[in-house]
Amino acid sequence: MLKLPVCPHCNTIYRYSDISKIMNKKSAVCYHCKKRFEIKRKNFLILFLIIALFCAIFDVFELYMVAQTNFIVLVVTNVVFIVTGLLLRPFFTKFKK
Ligand SMILES: [Zn+2]
Repeated sequence: MLKLPVCPHCNTIYRYSDISKIMNKKSAVCYHCKKRFEIKRKNFLILFLIIALFCAIFDVFELYMVAQTNFIVLVVTNVVFIVTGLLLRPFFTKFKK
């Protein structure tokens, strides 16, 4: 299941908005226990691959199964997949000591 990262020191649960704020930093200080932790983003690659896979599967499906392929629909769907992926990034963030 998707879950948001917690502080590795005190297990404080971080909210989505808190994670979005610190997500692009290398490290952050816990607002609860004031200890520093590292922010790991290596799972972003997995997320990116999942999104790319979904786009590819959908595009192939649309191109081969739907008689009248609409280019705009195809582009919009891919954009929706990518935006969804970007919104899911906090769930793929990990905090480490
Ligand atoms: Zn903490």
